[in-house]
Amino acid sequence: MPSYKAPIRDLQFVFHELLEADETLGSLPGFDEVSPDLVDAILEEGGKICEELLHPLNQSGDQEGCRFEDGQVTTPKGFKEAYRTFIEGGWPSLAADPELGGQGLPETISFMLEEMLCSANVSFSLYPGLTRGAITALSHHANDELKQQYLPKMVEGTWSGTMCLTEPHCGTDLGLVRTRAVPNDDGSYAISGTKIFITGGEHDLTDNIIHLVLARLPDAPEGVRGISLFLVPKRLPDANNEPGENNGVSCGSIEHKMGIKASATCVMNFDGATGFLVGPENKGLACMFTMMNSERLAIGMQGLGLGEVAYQNAVAYAKERIQSRSATGIKAPDKAADPLLVHPDIRRMLLTTRAYNEGARALATWTAINIDLAHRHPDPQIREEADDYVALITPIIKAFFSDYGYETTTLCQQVYGGHGYIQEWGMEQFVRDARIAQIYEGTNGIQALDLVRRKLFINDGRLPKRFFSLLDSYIAENRDDAALAEFIDPLREANTLLQELTAWLVAESHKNPDELGAAATDYLRIFALTTFAWLWARMAQVAQNKQDNDNSGFYQTKINTARFFMGRLLPQIHGLNISIRSGSDLMMALDESAF
Ligand SMILES: Cc1cc2nc3c(=O)[nH]c(=O)nc-3n(C[C@H](O)[C@H](O)[C@H](O)COP(=O)(O)OP(=O)(O)OC[C@H]3O[C@@H](n4cnc5c(N)ncnc54)[C@H](O)[C@@H]3O)c2cc1C
Repeated sequence: MPSYKAPIRDLQFVFHELLEADETLGSLPGFDEVSPDLVDAILEEGGKICEELLHPLNQSGDQEGCRFEDGQVTTPKGFKEAYRTFIEGGWPSLAADPELGGQGLPETISFMLEEMLCSANVSFSLYPGLTRGAITALSHHANDELKQQYLPKMVEGTWSGTMCLTEPHCGTDLGLVRTRAVPNDDGSYAISGTKIFITGGEHDLTDNIIHLVLARLPDAPEGVRGISLFLVPKRLPDANNEPGENNGVSCGSIEHKMGIKASATCVMNFDGATGFLVGPENKGLACMFTMMNSERLAIGMQGLGLGEVAYQNAVAYAKERIQSRSATGIKAPDKAADPLLVHPDIRRMLLTTRAYNEGARALATWTAINIDLAHRHPDPQIREEADDYVALITPIIKAFFSDYGYETTTLCQQVYGGHGYIQEWGMEQFVRDARIAQIYEGTNGIQALDLVRRKLFINDGRLPKRFFSLLDSYIAENRDDAALAEFIDPLREANTLLQELTAWLVAESHKNPDELGAAATDYLRIFALTTFAWLWARMAQVAQNKQDNDNSGFYQTKINTARFFMGRLLPQIHGLNISIRSGSDLMMALDESAF
């Protein structure tokens, strides 16, 4: 059975030492109480909940799955009790507004918890995760009456939230949404239609489920300009704001799927259900994007969380399992063979996973700090800059973290050889659970298009320009540091390649719009690797400055992992650059009939 230990030391390194977040966040309005001790205490306690409460339910939850009977969904054994403990501890509401019952802590802390939740039990993480996204959307777009009625219970965790976009004929292209919303005399709407693949659409963890549903008003324009957002409760609140009569919402079935089996994926039928408009008419997609952006970041964390737990188990296995002798001479003479860890190929797989995980942890935390700055910094210029960084990096976190998460869970499974394929060891579950993150919440192909088609161009390219100038300044500041040259040189090379490629791509796209689509996925990967290189150079720098007084080996290991990243992973950018520049014709020239 796999095990999990929360990576507290590395989270602390990223938060306190690399990003010096205590100072940055502590100076923001409302965060006066954020101190290093408080952050550490939350990480420790959150880590324990993940290790001791949620991880032990991960494998049994996968094997048992959710059950559907007579319209009711039952989550696997232990989930209900664990959920109660989780909400009683206030874990879902760490960053929520204190006026709604939340704890008003930085989003950054909530992000770090999210990684641990995803490592421990990604299926479980989805129930509070969707609720958190729904809270964000309602906080931004609902009227005061709806906020007062629904948000406190959602923040408390006794009511959960969903995101109802997908319909049988409509996934990526939400302009095709058919669910109807007909105005009632009392100002509410009658919602009718079928939504599929709805995560947490029905379950037994909460007293009520609050669906955020995209639907069309009777005379709405065609396409995405005619979509509105509605809040549709499973049960309508009574006069005491307790769940009252059933609304016209029912679960038709649940899906049987490759992974995240303890997360209920539901077909939801809305039969004239009472709904309430959220935000302006026909602007529903923009309002829903508030939730989707938050979910995209959370989905990226699934890649990191699963990569981390897979790494930990694969390392333990590679130290225990003996097989063959080292090419450079016997390392364990008392044993019949050497541990797997002596073999370079095993180390390649483990270090690939580790270097991606630690780079991702740094990027996730950096992005989360920018979310807090964008929300709270008194200077509008800094808020705008931070918001630009978050917008630019969101598709990268969603797509790159989930892509590498699938790659690395597979690598860690490989470390186990045949045993990795056997259920008992738990590694095949990590692979199956990781796969969905590449697909839902907008496939990774769509994330890449969001980066190249939208994020590169909005406000005259302000987003990439701002980000590139961060990299340029860091490189310029550290250009003369000879000790850091082994990290700065490859970073400089990657930064130049990325900026030249960006200019090329923008120019080519004016001649042929298909160039963007053809380049998107590889471009996103180059962008991600370059961003990781920036953070790895910074991590190596901090580690170099601290390694002399360190007996634990932590900083030396950071430096070694940074070297591995620069030497073995970053060079992918060169091949990808060549591929992209080969142009879209290689894909588009083929006649349809030739496929
Ligand atoms: C387990 C699970 C949970 C889910 N949870 C939810 C949920 O809670 N709420 C919800 O609303 N939905 C949910 N979904 C739905 C999910 O978000 C969609 O499946 C996903 O967005 C893709 O839509 P689709 O399946 O219809 O694929 P399609 O849109 O049909 O896409 C098929 C393929 O074509 C590609 N493609 C489509 N359009 C383009 C384009 N313009 N350019 C290039 N490529 C394109 C896609 O990238 C994909 O590879 C869930 C799905 C699953 C499997």
